[in-house]
Amino acid sequence: MRIEIVEGDITVRPVDAIVNAANSSLLGGGGVDGAIHRAAGPELLEACRELRATKLPDGLAVGAAVATPGFLLPAKWVIHTVGPNRHAGQTNPALLASCFTESLRIADGLGARSVAFPAVSAGVYGWDARKVAQLGIEAVRAYAGRPLEGEKPMVELVEFVLFSEETAGIFRQALEESGGGP
Ligand code: ADP
Repeated sequence: MRIEIVEGDITVRPVDAIVNAANSSLLGGGGVDGAIHRAAGPELLEACRELRATKLPDGLAVGAAVATPGFLLPAKWVIHTVGPNRHAGQTNPALLASCFTESLRIADGLGARSVAFPAVSAGVYGWDARKVAQLGIEAVRAYAGRPLEGEKPMVELVEFVLFSEETAGIFRQALEESGGGP
């Protein structure tokens, strides 16, 4: 599995699946969630409403992930995950690692070969971008190195797509410190 750091807008990435840093309601938010809904078009909100009405009446749990189509996005799927909110006292790093691992598990299930992640929880949810970079990269590497138990690994490329040069630099440094290329 290759890991790449990209500076830019996740909504334009030509990958099979992009990950959304959503909130538990799945019914819209600001930040990257708002950008993804704007770019995907109103059908994305309809799909999220449908999930709430069927599989997820209580919303999506922190650290869990669920997929919808990407509609007008270049990406075929959006994988919605809910990062822990530091401002609400959600400081358990395992919850944030779970966002990355669960998203990759869903991506593999869909047959996605390339997945783009934003800096989940590094915005409104208040986590330090360095911590998100370390945990995210570590979780992706651990997932790539898991015992396969007969399943075929699908995801070959993981991008971390960062909106600012500063955050991209933080992720580049974390990738180097974690041992360079995977
Ligand atoms: P959270 O609520 O999980 O903290 P936010 O959306 O507030 O999520 O922020 C997560 C990260 O996504 C922040 O670093 C923010 O700058 C970044 N971001 C916002 N819009 C985009 C976008 N279009 N593409 C990539 N990253 C984005």
